[in-house]
Amino acid sequence: SIAMRQDILELIGGLPSEEQGILEAVRDTAQEEECSVYLVGGFVRDLLLSFPTQDLDFVVEGNGGQFAQALMKRLPEGKLTQHVKFGTAHISFPNGSHLDVASTRVEYYSFPGALPQVEESCLRDDLFRRDFTINSMAICLNSEHFGELVDYYGGKRDLQQGKIRFLHNLSFIEDPTRMLRAVRFARRYNFKLAKETLEALFTAIETGVLLKLSVERFTEELFVIFQEDNYISMGQTLIRSGLFQGWFGEDYSWNFSEDDVQESVGWPLDQRWLSCISRINSEDIEKLCGRLSLNKTLRDETQIFLHLRAVLPKTQSISELDQLISKAPQGVIAVLAQDEHFRPRIMDCLESEKRIRMTLDGKKLLQMGVKEGPIIGEILEQVRRAWLEGKIHSTEEEREVAQQLIESMCRRR
Ligand code: ATP
Repeated sequence: SIAMRQDILELIGGLPSEEQGILEAVRDTAQEEECSVYLVGGFVRDLLLSFPTQDLDFVVEGNGGQFAQALMKRLPEGKLTQHVKFGTAHISFPNGSHLDVASTRVEYYSFPGALPQVEESCLRDDLFRRDFTINSMAICLNSEHFGELVDYYGGKRDLQQGKIRFLHNLSFIEDPTRMLRAVRFARRYNFKLAKETLEALFTAIETGVLLKLSVERFTEELFVIFQEDNYISMGQTLIRSGLFQGWFGEDYSWNFSEDDVQESVGWPLDQRWLSCISRINSEDIEKLCGRLSLNKTLRDETQIFLHLRAVLPKTQSISELDQLISKAPQGVIAVLAQDEHFRPRIMDCLESEKRIRMTLDGKKLLQMGVKEGPIIGEILEQVRRAWLEGKIHSTEEEREVAQQLIESMCRRR
């Protein structure tokens, strides 16, 4: 039974000392500011699961901005950013970690003359606006109640039973990104969707609720999935559930292959993305990209991938191949090399590229008396090719070849 205060204190005691230090600073600040403060959301969920935890999220019943400012006195290394309009604050630390402070009170101040709400109902409302029961728990950090779990919606039970359950029936209609989040949490923890939640998901897909989402929000949530270790199994669920078909309007031949599960853990995002579209024909890739708002890197790499995939079969010599490959992003090459048609030649080329130990550059050529102009690029390219083809093995040979090229090319002009 993980609800016991003693158990939670033990789990907190097992956290890295910096995080414990932050929790203590929050506790002491709450005492000073005389307000209630809670740890909320994903951190609580992952703490109870003993899953590697992440960002600290706090909710203050009171003025969040003022609280964050007071907290800074105890966290001198932190850098504070206030979002006054939303009543939230963000503190980041030199080691890359950060925390967020939100306030339950903020919207009550936006109605002039409104009476302040009872404190407990404020937290309850805040938690009710969340996506799933397992994400709607809080841990009190005020000293008298430090470590007490606040669980209005059965989050602890669902954690124990491995269930993803929404808080109310309109949840997916209110915010369709929760459909993607449901898949993500279910696959990440190997949980199942609770019966009503699963039924509502299918109904939402059938009735086109997803289409209310903007392309930007869908893309953002999809790429959060692509960052998960387990993204391949999430991708399979997105296909099997009909969610992808609901969004893209067509069944494409997505590649989320079991064979890649182990290796893909180490793949960067671009490689994951390109690999997942690598079996789809170019026309369809163009179409589906119209349903996403990819960032510039991914957009560019997708285009390079399509281009290389089209021209590689027509590329004969190793130096032609080298020209294409040496300038392409690594993720593109890695995914092309996954294709057995391309792999041997790409490997061969990469192997040959290892022979290249060029020391010659434009500056050296100028020192050797070559005039500035396109001839410099031409000589460099030819020298690179000679390395690649095994005609140069050392710096001395490189210099000789360059010298010969200079003589013959300058004579020709
Ligand atoms: P992760 O481990 O992926 O970071 P997280 O639960 O911390 O998971 P965040 O996206 O950082 O995810 O969200 C923090 C909290 O905010 C969640 O735990 C949830 O309570 C709430 N939340 C996030 N997105 C939504 C949403 N679309 N609808 C309702 N509540 C949400």
